[in-house]
Formats: sequence, structure tokens, C-alpha cells
Amino acid sequence: MSTSLLYHAFGIRGYQYTRTDYQDGQVTFTIRQDPKTCRCSACGSPEVRPRGRVERRFRSLPIGSRATFVALPIPRVECQACRVVRQVEVPFADPRRSYTNSWERYALELSRRMTIRDVAVHLGVGWDAIKDIQKRDLSRRYAKPKLKHLRRIAIDEIAVAKGHRYLTVVLDLDSGAVVFVGDGKGADALKPFWKRLRPSKAKIEAVAMDMSAAYRGAVSAHLPGAKIVFDHFHVIKLFNEKLSELRRALHREATDVMHKEVLKGTRWLLLKNPENLDAEKDEKRRLEEALALNKPLATAYYMKDDLRRFWEQPGKRFATTFLDGWLRRAESSGIKMLQRMAKTLAAHRSGLLAYYDAMITSGPLEGTNNKIKTMKRQAYGFRDKEFFKLKILAIHESKYELVG
Ligand SMILES: [Zn+2]
Repeated sequence: MSTSLLYHAFGIRGYQYTRTDYQDGQVTFTIRQDPKTCRCSACGSPEVRPRGRVERRFRSLPIGSRATFVALPIPRVECQACRVVRQVEVPFADPRRSYTNSWERYALELSRRMTIRDVAVHLGVGWDAIKDIQKRDLSRRYAKPKLKHLRRIAIDEIAVAKGHRYLTVVLDLDSGAVVFVGDGKGADALKPFWKRLRPSKAKIEAVAMDMSAAYRGAVSAHLPGAKIVFDHFHVIKLFNEKLSELRRALHREATDVMHKEVLKGTRWLLLKNPENLDAEKDEKRRLEEALALNKPLATAYYMKDDLRRFWEQPGKRFATTFLDGWLRRAESSGIKMLQRMAKTLAAHRSGLLAYYDAMITSGPLEGTNNKIKTMKRQAYGFRDKEFFKLKILAIHESKYELVG
């Protein structure tokens, strides 16, 4: 092994090659540092006296599927200027880790195309080792996103584990990037966000959120000039939940077996937008059949579809007329679910109409939520919550495989 091969293939420069050992399918290159090149790691002085060595072994880039290691006795020296004994610096590795910098870069490179598990198996290390490497990299890049440019944001809570564990996510609606992930939900979860937002001097114009009271007070208090918009995505999400409840209730009450079966089959179809119904699976016909059997369900379904038009009006005046008309129809429908929905929407009327001042679209929010759901389904979920939060902060760049 030549010193130039050590440098070009393994990223190690400035050492003398000693020997190569082959044992247990592993290759170990032993190298040493010329005492003349030793410097104090604190002040850089060459006036140092040798004070022994620390034997270290670093995992290095594999050759094919064969693991390689670099063994180095790290000189300890006493600095004549500092009067302190220290190890000399190792430029090719972090002395706290058991692998070289180039091995770490390789693991990150593989992580862009492979799951943590696959990278770990390929490199012959544990899952946690790869996870920690990704975590440090994500932390360097994403832990503290810049907030100065924020203009329009969305705030949302996501359930991350059973037993009502939540995270609060703040999304930059203009770039699609997640800019904050807080623990829990409600006003408390946002406290660290305000703390970081204030010195950034961002001028936030509009905030999209759901109709629950969770974030409203906090946003009004910290961003008095911002418009609060109850966005399309959240309204339809709530409507879908209510629609599912109605379907379940009707299913429970149905006495006819055929009727029960038909209702059961519409579970997902009701939540789809009509244009997304799958023609090949005959979804449209199946849905229509079920709706024909259930008047209240049909009315609620068509009213949901109709409500989407609220966000397609040419301006606020038209939208106001449309909303008031919709609310009247819902109230006179005789269907309790629709009447309750109308009551909720009426109570949040100005926040719904605020859409026409701020024009915040909820597309990025929906996309982000779906990606988080994909991540959540993976086993690692909560083995490391901070890692999970960093992955959410990096989600718009899809830097690494979402799956664990
Ligand atoms: Zn020194």
C-alpha cells in the first residue's frame, strides 16, 4: 500500500504506511505519524515532547463488500508553550467516532438512495450508527431554518403515535418548507417558534390553520397584523371526519344486510373527490348505488362536494354570497351532521372568507402531511423523536429515504 493510494482511495494524507493485516474477513491498514510532524492540537506549536500513544482503529471505506479499518497509534505530546499533554489532531476522523470522515460521507451518500437498515447491513454496522450520522447531518443543515423571509405560513398538529402524542408543524406556504417542529399541540408547542421568530423580524402576513381554538389565541397575540385563514384542507378534512361518522352511524342502524354491505363498501369512496374516483374499479357506480340507498348520506356527500366551490369563487363578494347560500341549504337540509357543520362554519365565517384576502392554498400542507404519514408508518418512528423531528424539517428536500 502506497501513501498516495491511502490518500486517493481512503482520504488519508500525511501518514506513513506500516502494514496491512487480513483477519476475519477484514482488512486493517496500520499507519503511523512521523514524530517530526506532531503539533500541539491547541496552539499549533511544533515544540512538543512525545508522551506515549493511544491506539485507535477507525472503520474506513470498504473494498467491495469487505470492511476495512485504519489502525493508528495517535501520539500524545506535551506542548512546551501550553504545558499540557494532549493527543495530536487526527484530520481524517473525529476522535470521538469509530470511523473516518470519508466513511461517514460514504454512509450519507448511500443514505440518499437506501434505507437506514439497508445502509447499516451493507456497511456491517448497527442501525443506530447510520441513524446518528444522518441525524448529525440533518441537524447541521436543518435544525435552525432561517425565518426572516416568512410571509405566509400554515400551522398544523400531527398525531405521531398512539396515546395522543402530537407534534406541531409550521410550514412556509411560499416555499413548501417546514420551518418549525414543536412538541405537543396548542399554544405551548409554539413558544419556541415565537422565540426564534422575534429576532428574525419576519413580516408574516397570513396564517392558515384549522378551526379549532388551539393556535388562534397564540397567533393573534404574537402576530397581531397577520390574517388568520381557516384553510380549505382543514375544512374538508373536518367535513370528511363528520361524513365518516355519519356513514358509521347509518351502518350501525341499517337492518337490511344488503344495505349494510353497500354502506361498508363506500367507506373510502366518500372521502375521495369525485374526479379521483377510479373508473377501472367501478368506483363511481358503486358510490352512486350506495348514495341512492341513503338519502342523508347522499345529501351530505353532495354538499361536501359543493362546498369545494367556495374556494373557486372569483372574489370575496361572490364567495360571501356562495357561503351564505351553502349555510342556508345545510341548515334547512334536516340532517343534523350538516346543521352542525354549518354552525361551525358560520362561527368561523370571517376566517373562511379571509382566504380571499390572503389566497393561501393548502396544497403544500396536504403534501407535507402525507409525507409525514409515510414516515410515521415506518418502524423507527419514535425510537428517536429528535431524529423524527429533523426528518420533518428536511421533508421538502427529501434528502434521504423517508423510510427507516
Ligand atoms: Zn500548545
